[in-house]
Amino acid sequence: MIRRAGVLIAALLFASCASGVNSALADDACAGPGAALGVERVVDIDTANGPLFGDLSVLAREPSFLGPGEVVLTFDDGPMPWITKSILDTLDRFCTKATFFSVGSMAIAYPASVRDVLARGHTLGGHTWSHPLNLKRRGLDRAIDEIERGFAAIAMAAGQPIAPFFRFPGLSDSDPMMAHLQARGIAAFTVDVVSNDSYIANADRLATYTLAQIDKRQGGIVLFHDIKSATAKALPVILAGIKKRGYKVVHMRAKSPLAPLDTFNADLEKRLVKTDPARKSPLIIASVTGTPPQPEAPQPHLLPFFGSPAVLKTLSGADAEVTTLAPPQRPRIVVTTNDHTETVNDGSKSARAHRGHKAKPVRIKRATADDPPFNIFGF
Ligand SMILES: [Zn+2]
Repeated sequence: MIRRAGVLIAALLFASCASGVNSALADDACAGPGAALGVERVVDIDTANGPLFGDLSVLAREPSFLGPGEVVLTFDDGPMPWITKSILDTLDRFCTKATFFSVGSMAIAYPASVRDVLARGHTLGGHTWSHPLNLKRRGLDRAIDEIERGFAAIAMAAGQPIAPFFRFPGLSDSDPMMAHLQARGIAAFTVDVVSNDSYIANADRLATYTLAQIDKRQGGIVLFHDIKSATAKALPVILAGIKKRGYKVVHMRAKSPLAPLDTFNADLEKRLVKTDPARKSPLIIASVTGTPPQPEAPQPHLLPFFGSPAVLKTLSGADAEVTTLAPPQRPRIVVTTNDHTETVNDGSKSARAHRGHKAKPVRIKRATADDPPFNIFGF
């Protein structure tokens, strides 16, 4: 019993050391008007109707919720602990918040990192299981598997609910996949400003380029990658430049958490037990003491779910304004049959239709002809 209690305490200390201390220190540093960059306002997004945000898509999407001079910071493709931690430390120093679109397999490989992202008050969403490019050419079932497996993996690695926020790898989106996201109440985000950190390896050049792009568009949703060392090195200069130019950071949160599918749990559990000390320890101790392995202890819910536990302050030290955004549902799938073209408004019905449970479409109109070659940016 004492040994088991010790394990629990150790697990709690592990969780604190991994994240809570940093968060607390950052909160103290951010409490006054001297805060570095801060968060000007918070947008709580109601994802029930599966909205799509951002410039870089040919699909129907929501008008920008950002005003001139406002930026949203986003980081894709991680976690990669030695990069992600540096980025989190920089964001803490600037007292500001971001959204991380993590890859499921990376989250399973580095679960402590995704917990750190959440514990420091950032928003955590999904970016598929294995980051396939050209997701829309893989077939709808395989694409949905990638999307859902990714979310389930990230949520399991995080040990707590995450945001129903998704970004398509390579920004390779399509209406049928968007219809699935609608049916699942998941919001998708493309980007407004590309830092080009996939290709610019020099930190000084990256900072200069990114700030120029932000200036060009006067803000927007900015794309970075927390797998690039140049990004980690350039971020302090970029954030200082954002502040100097008078841009304000807007933090996105989800109004409700994602409900991951449990279909993938058995497979993901097997993978996660190899990489997550917090999950392995109780089982090892149990076998040493001769007691049968116990069901996994619940993860300590020390912090609020998928949202920010931090006090979010503006540059002047005031509490950040919080608004809620609830976009309407938009038509998603254009189905071309033998004799007519029909626009389907109901995401859930159309998603089922394309799995063969309803009237069979002859083909799905794809938005390939007009697609810009997004993949050259290495999203
Ligand atoms: Zn990516």
